[in-house]
Amino acid sequence: MTSLTRTDWEQRSKALKIEGRAFIHGEYRDAASGATFDCISPVDGRVLGVVASCDSADAEAAVSVARAVFESGVWSRLAPVKRKEAMIRFADLLDANAEELALLETLDMGKPISDSLSIDVPAASRAIRWSGEAIDKIYDEVAATPHDELGLVTREPVGVVAAIVPWNFPLLMTCWKLGPALATGNSVILKPSEKSPLTGIRIAQLAIEAGIPAGVLNVLPGFGHTVGKALALHMDVDTLVFTGSTKVAKQLMIYAGESNMKRVWLEAGGKSPNIVFADAPDLKAAAEGAAGAIAFNQGEVCTAGSRLLVQNSIKDKFVPMVIEALKAWKPGNPLDPATNVGALVDSVQMNQVLKYIQAGHDDGAKLVAGGAQVLEETGGTYVQPTIFDGVNNAMRIAKEEIFGPVLAVIGFEDEAEAVAIANDTIYGLAAGIWTDNLSRAHRVARAVRAGSVWINQYDMGDMTAPFGGFKQSGNGRDKSLHAFDKYTELKATWFKL
Ligand code: NAD
Repeated sequence: MTSLTRTDWEQRSKALKIEGRAFIHGEYRDAASGATFDCISPVDGRVLGVVASCDSADAEAAVSVARAVFESGVWSRLAPVKRKEAMIRFADLLDANAEELALLETLDMGKPISDSLSIDVPAASRAIRWSGEAIDKIYDEVAATPHDELGLVTREPVGVVAAIVPWNFPLLMTCWKLGPALATGNSVILKPSEKSPLTGIRIAQLAIEAGIPAGVLNVLPGFGHTVGKALALHMDVDTLVFTGSTKVAKQLMIYAGESNMKRVWLEAGGKSPNIVFADAPDLKAAAEGAAGAIAFNQGEVCTAGSRLLVQNSIKDKFVPMVIEALKAWKPGNPLDPATNVGALVDSVQMNQVLKYIQAGHDDGAKLVAGGAQVLEETGGTYVQPTIFDGVNNAMRIAKEEIFGPVLAVIGFEDEAEAVAIANDTIYGLAAGIWTDNLSRAHRVARAVRAGSVWINQYDMGDMTAPFGGFKQSGNGRDKSLHAFDKYTELKATWFKL
C-alpha cells in the first residue's frame, strides 16, 4: 500500500500531464477531423483535459497501419520468446508507473485510489505478464494420421484485432484483451470508453518503450459510438473483442454480419445471484460478502452480486446483518486512501442509478439502507450504497442491470426455488453460493447457468481461470489460456509422405 495521503494525491493530480490524443503507428496525434471532447472527472466535476474524438477517418488510418505492421511480420512472426520478453518489459513498465496510472484511473472514472493502486494496476500488469510468460510454453498439435501422412494442427494470429472496452475497469479490461491479443502476435486497435480513455491512451507509449513495435498497439478514443462502429463495420478488421453492455454487444454482432463476418467475442452484462442458505457456515462472513459484492467499485461491476437471494428461515436475522456490514462502505473522496466507495462514473450513470432507486420504491420494494445522492457540494457524482428488501424477481431492480450500488433482497423457501430464481434472468455471468453442505454446493453450482460460481465467498478470480458469461452475458472468455482461442485461427496442414 501507498504511504501517500489525500493531499499528496491532490498535489500530484494538479501536476499530472493529461494526454488525450489518439495513438497511431507509435505516435500521438489529433483526430483527423481535429474534433475533441472534454474529459470530466466524476470526483469533482472538473475538466481534466480534452480527448481526441476519432471517427471513421482515424479508424481507416489505424486499420491500415495495423494491417501493414501485421503483414510485415515484425511482431506477428517474431519468435514467441522475443514477444514474451517485450510483454514482460511492458508489464514491468505498468508496475513502474503504477502511481501515475492509478491516479489517472481514479480521476477519470471515480474509483477509490486504494483500489486503483492495489487492484486495477497490479491485475492489469499481471494480465500482460501472464500472457507473455505463457506464449513460449504453448505447443501445437500433430494429428493422428495414417503412417504415410503428417497432419499439423497449428495456431496463427488472426491479424487485426479491434478491442472495444468499457469504463468500469478501464485499464484492467484493456489488459485482459491486450495480454492474449499481443502475445499471440496480432496488431490491435484499442477503443477505450469515452468515459475513461486516459489510461488506455497512456499505456500505448509504455508499449513502445517496452519494445513492442510501432503500429502493433494503436488507440482510438472517441465520443459515442462513431469510431467503435467504424471499427466494427470495417472490412479489414479480423476480430472484434468487446466488453460492455449486452445492448451494444448485440449490435456488434449485427455489424459483423453486415460487413466481413469478423469474429466477434463479447463479454457483456450481468445480474448475478448471490444465494445464502440457512446452513451457511458463517453468516457474518456471508453478510460482509454480500455488502462487498454490491458496494465494491460503487457497484459498477459486471459480476456485482446485485440479487441477494436469502432463505426465508434466516431472512429476518440476516438482512440486518447485511445492513450493518454495508455501513463499512461509505462514499468519500476517491483520492483519500481511506475511501472505499468512490464516485459513479458520470452524471448520466448517477441519474440511471437514482432512476432505479425510484423504480424500487414505485414497484413496492422496501428501502432498508441508503437510497440517496450524497456529497453534492463536491461537484462529483456520489450515491449511497442501497438495499431494497421485499423484492420479487419480476421487479425492475431485480431484472435489469443497474450498474450501481443497489442491492435487491429476494427471499426463497428451498433449494429448488433458489435455483429457479437465480436462473430466471437473461444473464449468466456469475453467482455466489453460501452453504456448509458440500453436496448442495456442488448441486447448485452445477444448476446455476453462470460462467463463474463462488462458494462461501464472492468475486474471486485470477489469470489462471477463464472469465466470461453464459446466455446474454457473452460468448467468450477472458483470462487463462482459453482466452488465447479468441486471438488465433486454427490451421490444418496435411503432408503426403
Ligand atoms: P457500453 O456497452 O455502453 O460501452 C462499451 C464500449 O462500447 C464503450 O467503449 C463504448 O464507447 C462502445 N460503444 C457504444 N456503442 C457502440 C456502438 N454502437 N458500436 C461500437 N462501440 C460502441 O458499456 P459501458 O457502459 O461502457 O460498460 C458497462 C457494461 O459493461 C455493463 O453492462 C457491464 O456489465 C459490462 N461489463 C462486462 C464485463 C464482462 O467481463 N462480462 C466486464 C466489465 C463490464
